[in-house]
Parts: sequence; C-alpha cells; structure tokens
Amino acid sequence: MSLMVLKFGGTSVGNKERLFHVAAIAKKNWQQGHQVVVVVSAQGDTTDELLEKAAEIGSDLPLREMDMLLSTGEQISIALLAMALHQLGCPAVSLTGWQAGVRTDSQHTVARVRFVENARLKEELEKGKIVVVAGFQGLDEQEDITTIGRGGSDTTAVALAAALGGEKCIIYTDVDGVYTADPRMVEGARKLDDITYDEMLELASMGAQVLHNRSVEMAKRHGVPLEVRSSFTDAPGTAVREETMERKTVSGIARDLDVAVISLTGTADVPGIAYQIFDRLAKEKISVDMIVQSAGENGCKHICFTVQKRQGERALAIIREQKDVEYASLSMDPEVSKISIVGAGMAGSSGVASDMFQALYEAGINIMFIATSEIKVSVIIKSQDTQRAMQALHDKFFGEKDGMAR
Ligand code: ADP
Ligand code: ASP
Ligand code: MG
Repeated sequence: MSLMVLKFGGTSVGNKERLFHVAAIAKKNWQQGHQVVVVVSAQGDTTDELLEKAAEIGSDLPLREMDMLLSTGEQISIALLAMALHQLGCPAVSLTGWQAGVRTDSQHTVARVRFVENARLKEELEKGKIVVVAGFQGLDEQEDITTIGRGGSDTTAVALAAALGGEKCIIYTDVDGVYTADPRMVEGARKLDDITYDEMLELASMGAQVLHNRSVEMAKRHGVPLEVRSSFTDAPGTAVREETMERKTVSGIARDLDVAVISLTGTADVPGIAYQIFDRLAKEKISVDMIVQSAGENGCKHICFTVQKRQGERALAIIREQKDVEYASLSMDPEVSKISIVGAGMAGSSGVASDMFQALYEAGINIMFIATSEIKVSVIIKSQDTQRAMQALHDKFFGEKDGMAR
C-alpha cells in the first residue's frame, strides 16, 4: 500500500468550508487505498497574529516561549481537520509535531529537523487512520517545543514523507504551481510543468516563498518526489524532481526583501581586515550573504556586505565593538532588495547575466551588488525598484516577443 503525504497551507485551511474541502481531498486519497498523512499549517494569518500578540508584551522575548506560543496555531488546524474527517466518516487522528516524532535541534524559532521517530505514525497508519500532523513544530533534546522557521510546514511534510518512505509529497497551496515569478507580483507569470530540485532550492532560498527552502533540500537528499498544486482547483501542478524534460536557461525570478546592506569605508588596505570582521560576525551567528570589497587605493579599501534585515543592527554593533578594526564610516541601508534569476541551463550559455543587466539598465534601475553562481545571478537594488525590476526581467526572459523561456 503506498503512502501519500499531503500538505495544506494556511489559506487552504482558513475556514470551515476549506477545511471540509481539504478533508474531502484526504478522504479521496484514502478511499483509493493509499495510506494518508496530512500536514497542515495554522489557519489564515494566525501565525502573524500570534507574533503581534507577543510584540504587545515586549521586545527581545525569550525564544523558547515564542515557540510555545507559535506552535499553538497548527494545533487548532489539526484538531479541526480531524473533526471534519470524522464528520465525513473517516477514521482520523491528529498528532502534534512531537507526538508525530519530529525531533529538532534547539535553535528556537529557526530549528532544524534532525530526524523523525516514526513509530507512532506507523502505528496509526497501520490501524487504517488518516493521520493529521501539525506542521512547523517539533521537540528538541531537552523536550522543549521548537518551531522550524516561517513557512516550515512544507519541511515537516517532506520530513514525514522521507521518514515513512512516502510515494509522493503533494504541497497544496493557494496558487496552482510554481511560476516563473510570483504570480501576485508579476504580470504574465507562467506556471512551470516541472523544475529541478536545484533550481527550486535556489528560487526558494532567493525568496520565492511558495516552498520552504529546507523542504526542497530535504526532498532532494531523500529523493522524495514533490508536487506543488492548488487546493482550490484540479489544475495540474508543478513537479519538482531531479531532472526535467527541458533544460531551461532561466526558469524563474525571485525577490527577497529581507536584506540590509552594511557598508564600511576607509578600512586599512592590509591583510586580515576581512578575516577580523567576518570571523567575529560568524562567531556571533550573523549570516553574511553577499560581500563586495573594493581594490585598495591610497592604503584604504571599502567593504560592503548584506545580512538579513533583523540582524542589521546587531551586525553594526559587533563591528563597532571591534576596537582593532578602524574605518572612516560605518552605515546600514535596510531599503534594499535582492533580485535573482535562476536556471539550470545558465551554466552552459553565455550572455544571461548581461541580458539581466541590460533589462535593469533599460528600466533605469541601478545595481548595487552582483553575485553569480552556476545556476543563478543575483543583484541588490533599492527596494523601491523591486516591482519594476521583477517585471522588466520577466518581460526580458519570458516576454511575448522572446517566446518561451530562453
Ligand atoms: P501556503 O500558506 O500554502 O504555504 P505560501 O503563502 O507560503 O502558501 O506560498 C504561496 C505563495 O507563494 C503564493 O500565494 C505566491 O504569492 C507566492 N510565490 C512567490 N513566488 C512564487 C512562484 N515563483 N510561484 C508561485 N508562487 C509564488
Ligand atoms: N504557520 C507557519 C507560518 O505561518 C508555518 C507555515 O505556514 O508553514 O510561517
Ligand atoms: Mg508556505
């Protein structure tokens, strides 16, 4: 008997009608003879509302308690969905992340799944039940509740599929697949029939929230076939897999607003400066993304780098505390965004980066940073230009006159 893991996001379980619709999809799979695990997120904007409640209490709150709070949203969804399934005459049982055996490390609010202790899940499945599991949550070694980062229910679903040898993991969401760019932002965005794990991982890591990046990483590592599709329509979705039929030069475009640029001017042009700065930041767990250093001139050089917005102030403070690093000025710009084009075929074709720069130039958009990898080109621009940049790049790489993706 094959096992299906079905995951439904917040909008898909947002009210009674939608919960019953989800229950009907689960029931259909179960009636077809599959074992069924359903992973759900918190309803609608519940997680944001919980964060707002916490913010009313104060700032710099203990992260252990934050996880205690945030994990409650998913518990509501599992109970309601299991009840709806009972109403439809299906045996169902709801399990929290910890009851389902999801074990994580202890980095509260951004914990990583370490393994899934699958005995209870198997036991319930063998009883013929539909097992409804709370996404986004787990238990650490101290038996404290953890959450695994915003959007993390996708990762819970893939972790369960991997732990149970699931045939497939279907991510049901509020769009009918993975698009060439966020269809809510870019006019003319097109649905992709398929995409490779590597491309999807880059898109998700570069800000395409349709899949949590760790879910893609995990699906690739364990060879879990993934499909992204709509919980509202029957339209075919997007398959995420190792190889695709067509090797596209550019598969998609993503934007990330969670970026701040830190600039240091006038540091000494001597060995060890970059090491001193970035070693200290790493020890303080600040993750640095892009780094640009100018060539030395008159004994000076400038260093700029990007961090997540919420880490910007902390990064500034760490540099200020470093008495052995001298500089002329130190500043932060949080009004920036990162735009990335991603495609597996990019490695073998020339001119993709220059096409990107041309499109931005023609739209009058200034590029602050550039970074490239085998299958990606990213730029940092002013955040006010984000929408225009996305549209200009989409028109360039996927527009009518260029036909299909190059
Ligand atoms: P869920 O609550 O189901 O997990 P999310 O809000 O996390 O849903 O993800 C779905 C959203 O991702 C879509 O509504 C869409 O606006 C956004 N999105 C961003 N980039 C893309 C893309 N390339 N393709 C499809 N959706 C995207
Ligand atoms: N409810 C969590 C969030 O809003 C997890 C998820 O939706 O995947 O981030
Ligand atoms: Mg999501």
